[in-house]
Amino acid sequence: MSNTYCIQISGRVQGVGFRPFVYNLALEHQLTGTVSNNENGVLIYINTTEAQAHKFLDAIIASAPKVSKIIQSSISESATQSFKAFKIVPSETKGQINIPLTPDFAVCNSCKTEMDDPKNRRYNYAFTTCVTCGPRYAITTKFPFERVHTTINSFEMCGTCEDEYTDPTDRRFHSQTNSCADCGIALSITDNNGNVIESNQDSILDKVANILHQGNIIALKNTNGYLLCCDASNPEVIQTLRIRKQRPNKPFAVVFPSLDAVQNAFVISPSEANALSSEVAPIVILNNKVSTGIATQTIAPALNQTGVMLPHTALLYLLMKRFGKPMVATSGNSHGLPMISTEKEAQKKLNGIADYLVHHNLEINFPQDDSVVKYVNDQRIIIRRSRGLAPSNLSQKSELDNVLATGADMKSAFAIAKKEQTYISQYFGNLASYDVLQRYTSTLNKFKDIFSLQPKAVLVDKHINYYSTQLGYELAENHSIPTKAIQHHKAHFASVLGEHQLFDTDKRILGVVWDGTGLGDDQQIWGGEFFQYHNNSIERLSQFEYFDWIANDKMAKEPRLSLFSILKKEQKALIASKFNKTEWQVYSKMLQKNELKTSSVGRLFDAVASALDLADFNTYEAEASMQLEQCASQYSGKAPIDFLQAVDYDKIPSAYIINEIFRQYQAGVSKSLLAYSFIYTLARCIEKIASENNLQTVACSGGVFQNSVLVKLLLASSLDIRLHKDLSPNDENIAFGQLQYFQHIKDHKNVFSNTRKNKGHYITA
Ligand SMILES: [Zn+2]
Ligand SMILES: [Zn+2]
Repeated sequence: MSNTYCIQISGRVQGVGFRPFVYNLALEHQLTGTVSNNENGVLIYINTTEAQAHKFLDAIIASAPKVSKIIQSSISESATQSFKAFKIVPSETKGQINIPLTPDFAVCNSCKTEMDDPKNRRYNYAFTTCVTCGPRYAITTKFPFERVHTTINSFEMCGTCEDEYTDPTDRRFHSQTNSCADCGIALSITDNNGNVIESNQDSILDKVANILHQGNIIALKNTNGYLLCCDASNPEVIQTLRIRKQRPNKPFAVVFPSLDAVQNAFVISPSEANALSSEVAPIVILNNKVSTGIATQTIAPALNQTGVMLPHTALLYLLMKRFGKPMVATSGNSHGLPMISTEKEAQKKLNGIADYLVHHNLEINFPQDDSVVKYVNDQRIIIRRSRGLAPSNLSQKSELDNVLATGADMKSAFAIAKKEQTYISQYFGNLASYDVLQRYTSTLNKFKDIFSLQPKAVLVDKHINYYSTQLGYELAENHSIPTKAIQHHKAHFASVLGEHQLFDTDKRILGVVWDGTGLGDDQQIWGGEFFQYHNNSIERLSQFEYFDWIANDKMAKEPRLSLFSILKKEQKALIASKFNKTEWQVYSKMLQKNELKTSSVGRLFDAVASALDLADFNTYEAEASMQLEQCASQYSGKAPIDFLQAVDYDKIPSAYIINEIFRQYQAGVSKSLLAYSFIYTLARCIEKIASENNLQTVACSGGVFQNSVLVKLLLASSLDIRLHKDLSPNDENIAFGQLQYFQHIKDHKNVFSNTRKNKGHYITA
């Protein structure tokens, strides 16, 4: 008799068709045994020889399902059992959960083919899924990933679905989200008073397409939450959506029916095409062609780029087939609130925005916005990490156990290190909104349930007035556990070091952390910092010279204030027309007695945007810096100006750069040359500081590194540039950075404390 071997595989192996794959492979290898999901991933027992067991594992690794990711595997001999056949057996969980959550996957091509085939039983079924596609995280209620642990469990499979589920030769063998029109999810349309106007499943999507063609706004319940949709070629209805959503200028995303249609409207690289068609299917920011066929100026006012995605669910796919042209699709919420996911809430909160609402009866446990990415060359920059990318981070092992990091405020996300996993939540938005805070805390509570978490320590930002910090302290007080406050920009640096696993290197590494705001160790507002990492410690090398931070959070909303703060007296007089008389007096007075200083590079972008008359106000976050980036990217010359070429400096002379740009603009130098030269000068600063300190590897973090022009310049330099890979450069990465800092940086002065000692300046932006 042969021996029994146990194979344990971990990584993204649940909800990806792994067990049916192993089952069929075992039959091929003529093996008897079992496969199940457990707390560590997938567990296999087989009767065989040691050599055959290794051969089997090699075959598993070589041909694993497309959307799976094996992180670790092991073989061991176990107590002899005798199996008569090979079987998929129910999950067994003995210990603590130690695997990542599986994200939602975009609808696959095989499922699309079935939905298109009049002879197929899933013809036109809007919730068609299979073992490699469909919602996962969105519908998870428990672990491991089994139908009974998802919200689809409330639908009982019909006989035919059950047959597919139990047939090893069927591609839906053990597909946990299996359903069909006979037993599955149903759609309905209501008007904005809640009256059902259509529930016939055969004609409902034609009706929705008609409603869109007629110039209406619909709220469409997708499997990740409600979207607000309208015809992307109709500027009037888009304008109406802007007014009703109170969103004057912020760009909307557009769903295109096919990749061909995208290619006709945009200049698109192979990396961008791959991203659009991938199982993540994010919104990708693309450069418009001269003619796009959509109302670009209403969709993304004053920008020559558009956020584009392909239909990532069966529902969107079928709807887009009927609608036949691009459709605006933006998160279903009012301005600044989280995405809505229940019919009740949608009926209450979206009835003033949408003319009609399209609901379905699958409960969404974890609603998520669509992810947003862009590409610089082949470098992916994540702008918003959400559906398809969140919630876990596969590349990160952790040595911490049960440590919670609460992250930052404006772009909030939390992270939890437990056993070998690091769970990083999706993006939530600005915690200053009560609803966003609710979504953040309810998701945190669900994570605590799913993973049986009992935090032993809480890491927070140093900024005491961050809601995330307050929440962390409250949690710590309630559970009598210690806290540690970690400086914002050091967390950013640790985050990018962690993503590249650079903590164990002997090399010294330059950290460049540039963003809008973060409380510094000296109680001033940092945002233009240079650090050095060596031997598990971080020291600050340099920064941008301080300038005055005035008018609290207004400064981030009004780029003219950054310019006002930094211009010298004679130059300042030239921008008086940007203010009325009272404003001028008030701000002048503020400046005289101001003590709060900043090194924020984000505000320098604002100052330049205002100096070049590109934007004096932000109607949405980073509007001015996006205008500046666009203006800079229009420069096609070969002789940018290095404003600091002849300047000897220790700290980067912020005021000198801005005053020089303003002076040259007044003297008639072109906007695009000056905008490009500003960013060029910043890139030169990084090269200079790297060279002076004899540093070759440069790790960059902070929202400023979403700027394509800056990233392109850096990638073209001779430096070893490290940018974020699976996380966004913006504050979404702070929670992960807090964990990484806590784990890797020796910081004896700053041990745990249970008291709220920090006194921060109250700044909400
Ligand atoms: Zn599929
Ligand atoms: Zn069925």
